[in-house]
Amino acid sequence: MAEREHKHVRVAVIGSGFGGLGAAVRLRRQGITDFVVLERADSVGGTWRDNSYPGCACDVPSHLYSFSFAPNPQWPRNFSGQPHIRAYLERVTDTFGLRPHLRFNSEVHSLRWNGEELHWEVETASGPLTADVVVSATGPLSDPKVPDIPGLDSFPGKVSHSARWDHDYDLRGKRVAMIGTGASAIQIVPAIQPDVERLTLFQRTPPWVLPRADRKISAAEKWLHTKLPVTRAARRGLLWGIRELQVSAFTKRPNELGPIEYLAKNHMKKAVKDPALRAALTPDYRIGCKRILLSNTYYPALAQPNVDVVAAGLKEVRGSTLVGSDGSEAEADAIVFGTGFHVTDMPIAQRVTGADGTTLAEEWKDGMESLRGATAAGFPNFLTIIGPNTGLGNSSMILMIEAQLNYLGDFMRQLDILGGKIALSARPSAVKEWNRKLQQRMERTVWNTGGCDSWYLDANGRNTTVWPGTTSEFKKVTRQVDLAEYEVLRPPRKPVTAPVAAPAEVAA
Ligand code: NAP
Repeated sequence: MAEREHKHVRVAVIGSGFGGLGAAVRLRRQGITDFVVLERADSVGGTWRDNSYPGCACDVPSHLYSFSFAPNPQWPRNFSGQPHIRAYLERVTDTFGLRPHLRFNSEVHSLRWNGEELHWEVETASGPLTADVVVSATGPLSDPKVPDIPGLDSFPGKVSHSARWDHDYDLRGKRVAMIGTGASAIQIVPAIQPDVERLTLFQRTPPWVLPRADRKISAAEKWLHTKLPVTRAARRGLLWGIRELQVSAFTKRPNELGPIEYLAKNHMKKAVKDPALRAALTPDYRIGCKRILLSNTYYPALAQPNVDVVAAGLKEVRGSTLVGSDGSEAEADAIVFGTGFHVTDMPIAQRVTGADGTTLAEEWKDGMESLRGATAAGFPNFLTIIGPNTGLGNSSMILMIEAQLNYLGDFMRQLDILGGKIALSARPSAVKEWNRKLQQRMERTVWNTGGCDSWYLDANGRNTTVWPGTTSEFKKVTRQVDLAEYEVLRPPRKPVTAPVAAPAEVAA
């Protein structure tokens, strides 16, 4: 019942992953308590709740892949697994008193800007509400993408996606087809290979894979990080600094990444002795163009006798036969799609209708565009966490999220300073200029020049996902809201009805 009593809020946050919980903490820290966090599931965690596939872990070290304001001296490993990251987010929720704000099972069906009242009308699975400000923290990796494969409906076995793992289905002893070779697939393959009867990997494009410097964090390190927080901060600082130094190779001098390819090839050579398989697994594009993957177990798994690598995409399914684009066929009892997410066509955009009645998806039909990764023209008081061009190729997304939280914090402050019923709407000229500069810088990056296709690029080949700079630069450009980049909207004046004089009086 409590959910339905709350009809109007100052802020509605959508999603309770790192972005949404971070936004909630920031709002509370600024003394804003009149907000809700709308979550479609029944627990927090976002992508770290939804991705529970075998072997799921983060390939950014945990001491960097965590909030600066919620350090965890107890991380068990350099690269902690999904259960630990999920548990961390649950703890953040409790530590910062976020539970009263959470509205579970509240998938947002639609958001519509009301220009008269200057607020958002929000329809959710748990009822409607209105909000002065909406913070969309749905994340780019939330809606699984399954390719449209002819005949898939005819497959008699189990079909699943990496981000929707069915723990009740037992893969042991089964013939499993793994589709894709992205960050998710290369973790699943070694985790299931020992148990399945046969594993057929459909590899459309081979990834670059580097060794993973993972290890347990010792009890002594944990003790030190607890007793002497400066050691924890130093560790985080080092992890961050190294990655900042790598950025220019990705963004300006992709050729400098060449020697890393040598390391990756060597890494493969150690595990894969068959030259034909090595040839099939060797990428033909510059390292870094797609996300660089880290694994010590992927190549050894592929070299096992119960694994077949089909160096082609999955083209068609005929009953239990899977057909590759090279014509090869494989029998399977189960198909696991590790085929990624709707990133550049995120479904939430279809549900948001802005000031002139168009949806964000329509606005973005030629490619996502925002101002400083946060706001879009025509969508007043609507901010996105991990919006367009805020992704990273080599560092922790939590750094980018925290920069965006600074922007959100200042956005809320500006609304307060301006006072009254008010909204800020990004000027189209500001959005255009931000993106012109951004795309200009993008031209030299490895993501655009490296000779690969990736989820960083949209259907038009435009990179609308990655930030072409350092995290410190992004932090600097999102520290404050520049009011010159916004139109300030106030409620339209209601027409005043003047007493109408009688005709006779007028004549007199
Ligand atoms: P992804 O990187 O988008 O990979 C999708 C894979 O599916 C690609 O290899 C793609 O091939 C392949 N694919 C698509 N259609 C296919 C078809 N018909 N036949 C064969 N293969 C097909 O998705 P993801 O692995 O889920 O990763 C997404 C992002 O999530 C990552 O980049 C990363 O940011 C994050 N993530 C991180 C971690 C981690 O921290 N360790 C783990 C998982 C995910 P092409 O390459 O040819 O397009």
